[in-house]
Amino acid sequence: MSFVSHLECPRCHLGYEASKLAAVCGCGSPLLVQYDLEHVRRAVTKEAIAPRATTMWRYWELLPVSDASAVVTMGEGWTPVVRLENLGGSLDLPHLYLKDESVNPTGSLKARGASCGLSMARQFNIHDIVLASAGNAGGAWAAYAARGLLGCHVFMPQDAPEPNRQEVAAYGADLVLVRGLVNDCARAASEQARLRGWFDVSAMREPYRIEGKKTLGLEIAEQFEWDPPEVILCPTGGGAGLVGIWKAMRELRELGWLRGNHQPLLVAVQSAGCAPLVRAWESGAEEAQPWERPLTIAAGLRVPRPFGDRPVLAAIRESGGGAVAITDEQILDGMRLLARQEGLLVCPEGAATLAAAVLLRDRGVLTSSSRVLLLNTGAGIKYPDALQRASSRVAP
Ligand SMILES: *Cc1c(COP(=O)(O)O)cnc(C)c1O
Ligand SMILES: [Zn+2]
Repeated sequence: MSFVSHLECPRCHLGYEASKLAAVCGCGSPLLVQYDLEHVRRAVTKEAIAPRATTMWRYWELLPVSDASAVVTMGEGWTPVVRLENLGGSLDLPHLYLKDESVNPTGSLKARGASCGLSMARQFNIHDIVLASAGNAGGAWAAYAARGLLGCHVFMPQDAPEPNRQEVAAYGADLVLVRGLVNDCARAASEQARLRGWFDVSAMREPYRIEGKKTLGLEIAEQFEWDPPEVILCPTGGGAGLVGIWKAMRELRELGWLRGNHQPLLVAVQSAGCAPLVRAWESGAEEAQPWERPLTIAAGLRVPRPFGDRPVLAAIRESGGGAVAITDEQILDGMRLLARQEGLLVCPEGAATLAAAVLLRDRGVLTSSSRVLLLNTGAGIKYPDALQRASSRVAP
């Protein structure tokens, strides 16, 4: 069973039946899954969840899958939250934490979206999925598709990191390299979906990936004993992660499971070489304009034209948060610092959140009393070029 009531467009508020496979709204906006939270509240308590298996599926009442036999899982989720005592001390941020998504299957937070999305594809008897990916999504969906026995077709920019291209091929997916950017890949993917009857699972083209990423927010709340940190720094490319965390907090508040009254401020962290959401945020716009010539070592942030720009900007606004851009040089410094001072080999996207914390401390947004959570979205080991550059750097 599931507690889903319907799907809803956050833009035109049109509702869709949950029993049909969903893509995007007729108005062009991504759709969001809505739950009967009153029913959830009567069916389960947070105390009942506490002893469950430590994977993201411990929150199944807040996930859209109704057929348990459709679930494709490799134990994703329940990743550790570590306190950064050394860096927190030197940065005068004594309550600095990092949630380490690198230990997920396939080495990134993309496993959460793929586990949920692939499970929904199986529930709807889909035989083939297709997606665009700039980095880790391709490997994650290819791995879950292999395990779930679905065909998988991945369109990637030809200059995507080599380990990401290799993992897609290793899992037996069909890899198509595109001379262009991830939005060109997304266009090709949706065209092939239409022509061949494949299910398009590119970021924000269906509502189930966000639900998987939502478990990141549910876990943050539970791991902080239902009193989430004041500020969460989210590396943001397509924005499904940030929207997922925002949605988690909203649902938990409605369930009455959160202690305290504050809402975590969600800060989108982008790369200065590709920061369409930061630019939109700073100009007060509700949608982002495409970023020309995007270039950054943080492949997961190289999304020049995020399809879900409106819901991302709305989530930032509603949380009272913001958006900041970090240079590749600062990213490399962050990788170096986290490795040498905390023993964490983070991905460039995750390293950007450390630089963002320093920037927000300098602006006075973060103080020594703030509980601040960095998200390391993936494994540094998947970025050999960035690692090499980070470790050959002279200490700043
Ligand atoms: C995909 C990805 C991101 C960005 O996540 P979105 O949900 O697309 O905003 C950040 N870091 C890594 C390592 C990623 O793979
Ligand atoms: Zn709509």
